[in-house]
Amino acid sequence: MQRNNKTIFLDRDGVLIADPIGNYIMSPADLKLLPGVIEGVRLLHWAGFRLIMISNQAGIGDGVYKFEALEKVTGKLCNIFSEHGVRFDGIYYCLHGKLEACGCRKPRTGLFWKAAGDFAIDRRNSYFIGDKISDVEAGKEFGVRVIMLRTGHGRLEEKLITTMRPDHLADTFMEAVQVILGGRVS
Ligand SMILES: [Mg+2]
Ligand SMILES: [Zn+2]
Repeated sequence: MQRNNKTIFLDRDGVLIADPIGNYIMSPADLKLLPGVIEGVRLLHWAGFRLIMISNQAGIGDGVYKFEALEKVTGKLCNIFSEHGVRFDGIYYCLHGKLEACGCRKPRTGLFWKAAGDFAIDRRNSYFIGDKISDVEAGKEFGVRVIMLRTGHGRLEEKLITTMRPDHLADTFMEAVQVILGGRVS
């Protein structure tokens, strides 16, 4: 088994970058990294985790903004990370509209299985970091540990947690990294 079959799945909006709640990130100018994200992602990368981003972008399927705009945002995000020596091994978007019955819009697990078709994934040693209940549901259903952040939608959505609970609730991205690395972060 390859060393990096342990994988960190990362939601994008509200986890890596600020979520303009009620709106979409439609241009690179709207992209704001959240505190500690660069450092945290680098630590996960150095610890041997594969990094895979999983994000719903229904604004495409619903006609709110165009795929080219999403590509520009993705390009800028990747550039920022690569300037810090990190790249994502995979980026998977659901582009379907909210009302389309696709199998990949979280809480459904299609994007995770797509990634699992592209990479061998050691689910028992993998995590999903998200900010919504739908992230928790998707991650638990796929069979990885889930850390829910109180950034993005997290502070509102944590009040709605019922049966499907995250393995951990963290205030910040760096706290999630500390949980994953077992406190080996100073
Ligand atoms: Mg999110
Ligand atoms: Zn979809």
